[in-house]
Amino acid sequence: MMNYKIVIADPISKKGMLYLQEKGATVVDLSSEDKQRLLDEISDADALIVRSRTKVTREIIDAAKNLKVIARSGVGLDNIDVKYAKEKGIKVVNAVEAPANAVAELVLGFILALVRNIPRADSLLKKGEWAKSKIAKISHSLNGKTLGIIGYGRIGRKVGQWAKMLGMEVIAYDVIPLAGVEQVDLDELLQRADIITIHVPLLESTRGMFNKNLFEKMKDGVYLINTSRGPVIKEEDLKVYLKNGKIAAAALDVFMNEPNPDRDLVEMENVIATPHIGSLTIEAQDAITMETMKNLWMALTNNSETGK
Ligand code: NAD
Repeated sequence: MMNYKIVIADPISKKGMLYLQEKGATVVDLSSEDKQRLLDEISDADALIVRSRTKVTREIIDAAKNLKVIARSGVGLDNIDVKYAKEKGIKVVNAVEAPANAVAELVLGFILALVRNIPRADSLLKKGEWAKSKIAKISHSLNGKTLGIIGYGRIGRKVGQWAKMLGMEVIAYDVIPLAGVEQVDLDELLQRADIITIHVPLLESTRGMFNKNLFEKMKDGVYLINTSRGPVIKEEDLKVYLKNGKIAAAALDVFMNEPNPDRDLVEMENVIATPHIGSLTIEAQDAITMETMKNLWMALTNNSETGK
């Protein structure tokens, strides 16, 4: 068997490293080293593992004379020059299944936090206000409400299943035919949904998709959730519709500018904001690492051995 050299550029769990070592690979952990060490070590490496800190640029790819696989422990590949890697015949793998549950759980948390005003009630009480009647006037039950899911992929489907269990009516819009859900066109979704949750990928066609034209068509007092990618929303437009109350409240895990999101937006009273934590649970991180390692090993050995 080949003795593969695998360079780890960003921290991954011990379990992930052990998996590779048990396969007989030589694992070089550079997660706390500088870029020069990476450039030196990558020259004869067979595979490179990154999360989001390391930017896999042309410089790094050119320094790697023997590289066969780049593995990103997570979904998005925006920190990797995928086009250049592919030109050089290097495979790029990631983990797409493992984050879905954790992101869907956050969405569920957002739905409940929005309609029951949990963060607002908590912060008022901490300031000494027993805001019982204030909260009662702006809170809603979920049973019978309509959830509109835009982008009915891995995460959207999970959110849909769980929302049905909460007694919600679920409608979905997607660019592909869907099964197991009432599929509607975008206009109908915007008109019918009490809560809208966005799960589209960031593509040229979805960049800025959620702008004043769409907000205008939504129900008065709608709740909006975005855990996909920040740039799918025009934040300037969103602020206008949050201010005028057309959108009752929004829960956002992703922003145009990360890690420095628009302060005016995140500080609004009717915004719940979290720092891109969708897949960041201890269990999900472990699962993402293992999915990535298995995909990496498969790509490296070019077979379907997953070594469970
Ligand atoms: P997925 O590929 O399984 O599903 C995306 C769905 O969107 C597909 O069904 C696709 O057909 C649909 N779609 C594409 N373009 C569309 C459009 N213009 N209009 C409507 N639907 C469209 O993806 P997923 O795993 O469910 O992830 C969804 C999003 O969540 C992605 O943007 C991903 O980057 C993001 N994400 C965020 C976090 C986080 O930490 N917040 C973690 C993981 C994934």
